[in-house]
Amino acid sequence: MSVLGVYGVSRAASLIYYGLHTMQHRGQEGCGIVSVDAEGKMHRHRGKGLVSEVFNESKMSELSGSMAIGHVLYTGAASRSIDNIQPLFFHHGSGDFAVANNGNIVNAKQLRDALESKGSLFHSMTDSELLAHLIKKESSEEPRINSIISALNMLEGAFAFLIMTKNRIYACRDRYGLHPLSIGRLGEGYVVASESCAFDTMGAEFLRDIEPGEIVTIDHKGLRSSFYTEQTFRKMCAMEYIYFARPDSDIEGCNVHAYRKESGRRLYKESPVEADIVIGVPDSSLSAAQGYSEASGLPCEMGLIKNKYVGRTFIQPSQELRELGVKMKLSAVRSIVSGKRVVMVDDSIVRGTTSRRIVDLLRSAGATEVHVRIASPTMTHPCFYGVDTSTLDELMLANHSVEEACHLIGADSLAFLSYDATLHSASGRCDMCLACFNGEYPTPLYQKVEDANK
Ligand code: SF4
Repeated sequence: MSVLGVYGVSRAASLIYYGLHTMQHRGQEGCGIVSVDAEGKMHRHRGKGLVSEVFNESKMSELSGSMAIGHVLYTGAASRSIDNIQPLFFHHGSGDFAVANNGNIVNAKQLRDALESKGSLFHSMTDSELLAHLIKKESSEEPRINSIISALNMLEGAFAFLIMTKNRIYACRDRYGLHPLSIGRLGEGYVVASESCAFDTMGAEFLRDIEPGEIVTIDHKGLRSSFYTEQTFRKMCAMEYIYFARPDSDIEGCNVHAYRKESGRRLYKESPVEADIVIGVPDSSLSAAQGYSEASGLPCEMGLIKNKYVGRTFIQPSQELRELGVKMKLSAVRSIVSGKRVVMVDDSIVRGTTSRRIVDLLRSAGATEVHVRIASPTMTHPCFYGVDTSTLDELMLANHSVEEACHLIGADSLAFLSYDATLHSASGRCDMCLACFNGEYPTPLYQKVEDANK
């Protein structure tokens, strides 16, 4: 998922449209834009599918105004209803507002149950609606920032909320800083985005990251900062660096391509192997393969070609679709891999479906040996913070040893990056969330790990 906001720029919704394209890799199931026109009236369009499928010229012409927020969605099969496509839009005595979020609130069920028992009705499964109910519960006499601060203090887990009223945008990041959220400058206005790669597309200049626990208010006075809590941490999701983000994004001062390349170098130092060529699994593992190649002196070759018009496999919702997605999306280049001992570098092993299929592809194309090197540790735990990695039952390395996994994917050898190397591949970082690898969740979970995603 990702959020994007524009304040103080004419035709803000058109900029959001281009920015959402840039962040399409973070979700392909649905998207939406809400704009505020010169009279303070909100306009929304949303739908299932890609940005290019949901919006057209006529829809965009309805989204007038110099302020807008947008969202792209990926989600599990259970919640793929139009009601869950954000931004959501609410009416309130103190004024209408729209909300979009990237993340997952871990105490959402408890809060929803408590609100429902007092008569609240929910129309969606989203944390944005939960936040709206918590804000609406507060007195409409209070300044809205106070209602937002007390609402955020009730939430536990990962969030990057954009809340837009008729005259300002509030950008709020959880106290752990689990997912990125940055601010850029565009002419006299501002852009706030889940990934800094959107700034280049939109012509904005990166200003800074929003801090964990911070609320940045963007309005005619410029930027104002407040914190909803003093208890803050630096627990950026490691999977943002490893898999999710685009290589041209910078996350908390570290470029994603530079991170992956360094992780590839460290992977070679930890797990060298005799081979002829290094092949990265496109796209997210190409940088790590380059690092492995540089450290090993082995040539890095384009042995796998991706059909770019098929969605990411691990975020498609059902196993059947994932299997089909893997078959459609990659081809091995016979003239490159035939007769070669191949080091295949990938970013992670989730269910093992993709790895098994790619090893098969390489062998069918004539590779004599396939050594799989993974630029992250063994993924043994589910994520509770909005990354749909998988359930505990489905995670290959939660249920099999590395030796068994090597056999199951059909590789000649298999090795993973250490926790230490995963952390220190990000220059200047001394902490981040590695919970799906080590089970050390930074927040209370409010449920058992075994019950996750049931
Ligand atoms: S559990 Fe894993 S995927 Fe989830 S936020 Fe932490 S590092 Fe990211």
